[in-house]
Amino acid sequence: MFESLSDRLQGVFANLRGKGRLTESDINEAMREIRMALLEADVNFKVVKDFTANATAKCMESDILDSLTPAQNVIKVVMDELTRILGGTDATLELSPNRIPNVIMLVGLQGSGKTTAAAKLAYLLKQQNHKPQLVACDVYRPAAADQLETLGGEIGVAVFRGDGADPVAIAKAGVREAVDNLRDVVIIDTAGRLHVDEAMMTEAENIRSAVEPDEILMVVDAMTGQDVVNVAKAFAERVDFDGVIMSKMDGDARGGGALSVREATGKPIKFVSSGEKPDSLEAFHPDRMARRILGMGDVLSLIESAVKVQKEEEEAEVAERLARADLNLNDFIDMNRQIRKMGGISRLIGALPGGDKALAQGQVDERALDSMEVIINSMTKAEREKPDLINGQRRARIAAGAGVTVTDVNQLMKRYGEARKMVKKMMPAITEQPARGKKG
Ligand code: GDP
Repeated sequence: MFESLSDRLQGVFANLRGKGRLTESDINEAMREIRMALLEADVNFKVVKDFTANATAKCMESDILDSLTPAQNVIKVVMDELTRILGGTDATLELSPNRIPNVIMLVGLQGSGKTTAAAKLAYLLKQQNHKPQLVACDVYRPAAADQLETLGGEIGVAVFRGDGADPVAIAKAGVREAVDNLRDVVIIDTAGRLHVDEAMMTEAENIRSAVEPDEILMVVDAMTGQDVVNVAKAFAERVDFDGVIMSKMDGDARGGGALSVREATGKPIKFVSSGEKPDSLEAFHPDRMARRILGMGDVLSLIESAVKVQKEEEEAEVAERLARADLNLNDFIDMNRQIRKMGGISRLIGALPGGDKALAQGQVDERALDSMEVIINSMTKAEREKPDLINGQRRARIAAGAGVTVTDVNQLMKRYGEARKMVKKMMPAITEQPARGKKG
C-alpha cells in the first residue's frame, strides 16, 4: 500500500534537497510532480487540486523560501497537508457512557470486509474489557451469518443470528439478547450488495431507526480506489455514518481511497484493517500515516505493538530500556523474539524509516533470527549486558560454543551494532511526536 506514491514523493524531495536554495519555479515544478503522483495513486481529482493549491500557497511564503532549509520546510508542508486530508486528528469510537448496551452498526458494499471487520472490532473491544455481542443481519446470504458465527467462535464473542427473514426484527432481538446477557456493546453486521441500490439503503435506514446506533461505521475496501467517494457519498446521504473502517490496507492498493474518503465525504477514518487475523484492526492516526507515506516510518505504531506484546510481563522494563536509548544483547534478543510475536520481521522493517524499500530489495532474512539467537545463547551474562567486552578472542570462543564460524559471530555483532545505532537515532523522533491517543 502506498509504495509507489511513497517512492514518487521521496523522489521529488530528493531533487529539492539537491538544490539548496529554492526558487518559485522549483516549488511549482515540485508541486506539479506531487500532483501527478497523487493522481496516479488514484486520489480524487478535487482532493488533489485542493492539496496542491494549499501546499503551493504555504510553500511560496517568503519565510519558507528564504529559510536555510527550504527543502525540509517543503516536506513539512506536504506532510501537514497529507495529515490534513487524512483527517487531521485522530477520531475514535464515540460510545455513550449513559447507554447500555451501546450499538455499533456496520454498513458497506458486499465484499468490502464488513463481516471480518465486525469480528475484529468485537475482538478489539473485548481486549478493552468490553463484553461485545455480534448480530448477523444479512438474511440474504446465510453464508455471511455462518462466517460471523465461525469468527465469533474463534474470538470467544457471542453471535446472535435470530430467525426469520426480517433484518430489522433480528437487529432489535439482537439488542435485547445483549441486554439479557449483560453485554455492553452490540455490533450489527448488515447486508451489503455489489452496488449501491435502493433496497440496501432502505434496509439500512430501517435498521438504523429501529436500534438507533451510537456509531454507524462504513466499511470501505482500500482496493476500491477513488470510486469509494461515490459509494461513501451515497451512504452518507441516505443512512449517514460517523466514520470509516478502511479494510485491506495490507493489499497493494495505490492508496487513493484512503486519501480521498475524508476530504470527499467529511467522514473520518476511524480504523484500518490490514489482514485476515482478528487482531489486525487498529486505530487510525492521520499523522502517522502521513509520515509513513513520506517514508519516515511509523515508529510509534511499531513501539505500540512491541509494548502490547510484552505488556503483561515487562511493560515497565520496556519503557526503561527505551528511555535508556541504548540496546545491549539481551535487549537485542528480546527484540528478535518480539519481532516473531509481532508477526515476523517484515512488518517491523516496513514500519521503520525507509523500511519498505529494504524489504522490497530483499535485505531481510527471517531465518537469520534463529541463528542469531543460538549465538547470543553461547555468550556469558556479562558479554550480553556489555557487548563492548566482546573482543576477537571471545568471538572465537562464542563461535566454537555455538557451532558457527567467527564470521557468523562478526555478522551478528554488525547487525546488533546497526540495531543499537537505529534505536539511538529513533529515540529523538519518538519523543518529538505528540501525545498518544489525543483527540480533538
Ligand atoms: P463482507 O461481504 O463485506 O462481509 O466482506 P467479508 O468480511 O466477507 O470480506 C470479504 C473478503 O475480504 C474475505 O475473503 C475476507 O477474508 C477478506 N478481507 C476482509 N478484510 C481484509 C483485510 O483487512 N485484509 C485482507 N487481506 N483481506 C480481508
